[in-house]
Amino acid sequence: MKDHAPRASDRTVRLEEYAPFPWIVGDVSLTFRLHPTATRVLSRITFAPNPAAPSGPFFLHGEKLKLIEASIDGAPVSPTITDEGLTCDVPGTPFVFEAEVEIDPSGNTALDGLYMSGGMYCTQCEAEGFRKITFYPDRPDVMAPFNVRIEGPEDAPLPVMLSNGNPGAQEGNSAEWHDPWPKPSYLFALVAGDLVAKSGTFTTASGMPVALNVYVRPGDEDRCDYALDSLIRSMRWDEQEYAREYDLSVFSIVAVDDFNMGAMENKGLNIFNSKYVLASPDTATDVDFEMIEGIVAHEYFHNWTGNRVTCRDWFQLCLKEGLTVFRDQQFSGDMRSEPVKRIDDVLALRARQFREDNGPLAHPVRPESYIEINNFYTATVYEKGAEVIGMLRRLVGAEAYRAALDLYFERHDGQACTIEDWLKVFEDATGRDLSQFKLWYSQAGTPRVEVSEEWDEEAGRLALTFRQHTPPTPGQPDKAPLVIPIALGLLDAGGNEIMATEVVELTEAEQRVEIGLGTGDADLASDAPRVPGRPVPSILRGFSAPVILQRQTSAEERAFLLAHDTDPFNKWEAGRALARDVLVRMVTEGAEADPHYLSALEMVAKDDALDPAFRALALSLPSQDDLAQAIHDGGATPEPTAIWAALRRLAEEIGGTLEPVLSRLYDEMRVPGPYTPDAESAGARALRGAALAYLSRVDGGSRAAAQFAEAGNMTEQLGALGALLRIGKGEEELAAFRRRWEGDRLVMDKWFALQAASASPAEAHDVALRLTGDPAFDWTNPNRFRSVIGALTGNVAAFHEPEGRIYRLVTDWLIRLDPVNPQTAARLTTAFETWKRFDADRQGMIRENLERLSAVDGLSRDTSEMVGRILA
Ligand SMILES: [Zn+2]
Repeated sequence: MKDHAPRASDRTVRLEEYAPFPWIVGDVSLTFRLHPTATRVLSRITFAPNPAAPSGPFFLHGEKLKLIEASIDGAPVSPTITDEGLTCDVPGTPFVFEAEVEIDPSGNTALDGLYMSGGMYCTQCEAEGFRKITFYPDRPDVMAPFNVRIEGPEDAPLPVMLSNGNPGAQEGNSAEWHDPWPKPSYLFALVAGDLVAKSGTFTTASGMPVALNVYVRPGDEDRCDYALDSLIRSMRWDEQEYAREYDLSVFSIVAVDDFNMGAMENKGLNIFNSKYVLASPDTATDVDFEMIEGIVAHEYFHNWTGNRVTCRDWFQLCLKEGLTVFRDQQFSGDMRSEPVKRIDDVLALRARQFREDNGPLAHPVRPESYIEINNFYTATVYEKGAEVIGMLRRLVGAEAYRAALDLYFERHDGQACTIEDWLKVFEDATGRDLSQFKLWYSQAGTPRVEVSEEWDEEAGRLALTFRQHTPPTPGQPDKAPLVIPIALGLLDAGGNEIMATEVVELTEAEQRVEIGLGTGDADLASDAPRVPGRPVPSILRGFSAPVILQRQTSAEERAFLLAHDTDPFNKWEAGRALARDVLVRMVTEGAEADPHYLSALEMVAKDDALDPAFRALALSLPSQDDLAQAIHDGGATPEPTAIWAALRRLAEEIGGTLEPVLSRLYDEMRVPGPYTPDAESAGARALRGAALAYLSRVDGGSRAAAQFAEAGNMTEQLGALGALLRIGKGEEELAAFRRRWEGDRLVMDKWFALQAASASPAEAHDVALRLTGDPAFDWTNPNRFRSVIGALTGNVAAFHEPEGRIYRLVTDWLIRLDPVNPQTAARLTTAFETWKRFDADRQGMIRENLERLSAVDGLSRDTSEMVGRILA
């Protein structure tokens, strides 16, 4: 029965090798007899030959399954079983395959398939977890309706037993569920345990009532209101903006403590990392509330973009993820401040995706090969995938975008699709040829767009020359020019807008755009009167394309745009660029903090006409990683400790110079009354928190200590604690915080993360040893592991402390985690992806550690692929 196939790790999966499954699955019936160590899964699946596919052997995926018995049309069979699945002789006509397998949920520490978390049964099947539950064609293009019966353990009945779809008979110790919508196996879900629900109802636009439930462990019921409210707002928004209605009688969200990802969009039964469900004013920050809103929306929106229309294969992951991220960004922009949301999204894109796109892990939005698909749930697929949709919408316009989406749902409902299907819908709806645009899906790397300008004073014409190029990335030495929408505006010398935003479409490697000012033959329409003096262009407004804009600009012009630009994104961007230039000079030339920057910053801080949330963003400094990247791009070698010291010096300088305005803001931005997580209050708290962080640099922490003692919510308490830790204080507060929150996992994650993130390079190793040696460091829990190891690697100066002790410590922990939870271990290896930016000593130490990791006997396919790519 047992065959010796090559280990799956040896095999690269390629897009070009796609072939449809040779059978069509009709119905799927599953019975689960739950038991912590010996759950029985009985399956009954109907198969018929697929006339659209070449015939092939009958192969069902299956990993770590103990086959009890199998039959075809009722007759027992003895299939051949390998590490990857089962093959069997089958008739050439429709047949019924039945199997009974045994699995061990409590032994499943990889949190993939059916596993246990705190005594509760739950599943995670995307991308390839279902094959750890039973034998099945575990691929997204096989879609079928599912019937599920769950039987609880006889000796320990489970109050709640859930699966996808609509509820059927629920009696005694069993529950039945029927999902009428054909779905791929990665959307299967099962949850069973001692859970309680916070419930609500929603009536769809066409009048169908839907029962809504947020399931949590007893005791957490009072922390679900915001998730439920976010769900209701998401359902309404999708009806209003995309005409998408919900399609089952019940929709549930379940919070799980042990979870590799953020959340999962299983049909009708979303499973969430509890971090993105549970929130109360005293335990969650404003950022937590905002994340919950965004992630609840994201998973709900998948019901149409992902579930009803799914991906043909995993190379098409961006089809559902890029689009759904774009949709959740639109939603959050509508719920909150759109410009502030855009700035936040671009900050995240640059921090994660640009970093990825400029290193050894760079890959296209639609990758062409993988060894372990779990390694491709990346910022490129998600965030750059969303940027591509945003560009498409900008190019065709909002109305045509909506028409194309209507056609997409109409044409492809119930199908498993490709990027080609997606683009064809846009071509058919708009008449546009998207063959060049399609390169965004296949070409990796962040394009550089260089702009130079000529001003013809006499003719009153401004000419902009754009040159685009995309640097080589692994496997892609040469790149073709892309379609790049550049949103452009123009200000006169007095700061008045003389040309409202227009979109220029770059398609060539070099392209010249002339703008006439009131001359009557303008290339870009403009009725503005001719203005004396050279205008100031505002380029890439709203960050209209995910590119790096390269332009020789003076500090004066940046300060001018920071003061006057009418586009909020570019206004912020001007200030950010100014801060980056100042800091880079401080690091590389030992320059002093530039007084022009400080006065420009003061002007923004003082400007009460500006949204407080926007001002908070304008006051924030570039991250250590941003600066390392900027210094590297400038041709120098970044020194992490020097970057850390310059940031500290500038923060002190800002605290001192802007003390009067910061102190006024700190007093004025106090939000009276009970805490509410709305955008306006959160914005005021963000600005107050930014002021506090700077003021603490110069007041010895007195304000922060007082705020910590009085804080009535987690945002203010954690903000005060962070401000204290960053100035080397807060020991007592840290202990008090722990005493108060010891029993709360999510809050304790913050306690760990904050210390790791604010450790100075000199104390990093001691802090790391203390945190990882703490009895509460439950390292098998992914949230806890990330809160220490992830936060430590995100603190660039700490991670790269000159003696290499943190490299060793992180590597040791990855070696320990890998056999237990390969997905989480593999994801954290990305800490090393920027290693080639640094000096020879650091590179040597990193290489040594990566080689040590890669040499581990039995290293998972996940981690081994990642380390191989980073080292290549
Ligand atoms: Zn998603």
